[in-house]
Amino acid sequence: MIAVGVTTLRLTRHQHAVMVGHCYDGLPDEACGLLLGPMIGGVATGVITDTRPCVNADASARTYTVAPKDMLRAMRAAESAGVEIVGVWHSHTHTTAYPSPTDVRQAVDPGWIYPIVSLRDGAPVMRAYRIVAEVITEVPIEIVA
Ligand SMILES: [Zn+2]
Repeated sequence: MIAVGVTTLRLTRHQHAVMVGHCYDGLPDEACGLLLGPMIGGVATGVITDTRPCVNADASARTYTVAPKDMLRAMRAAESAGVEIVGVWHSHTHTTAYPSPTDVRQAVDPGWIYPIVSLRDGAPVMRAYRIVAEVITEVPIEIVA
């Protein structure tokens, strides 16, 4: 189970900066965004081709929902680029970068990667996970070029 489809999330410095920057922009609320990239067998490969900051429709410091309009735009962008939506990132403003019970319940796609950016401490901390049948597995993050 654990070994199946385990990937490394590979982010460029720019992608990493976009993700973290969007989390700061969203304060005091949680922020969220969608990741695009290739999949193999319905599972993200870890290669990211696009990071798309989205509106948190919940406008909440505790929960997030990707605004339906942003989800639709991302689906269209993925389709025209020949890739898939492969994950969603969000911020934790006052807790660590670990999935909350709500995050686990919301994680409906076993092939997605779920990065979380904690802004609790002075420096942002990003960690990423796959969540399959409510089992959380950390996915290492590699910053490439
Ligand atoms: Zn969360």
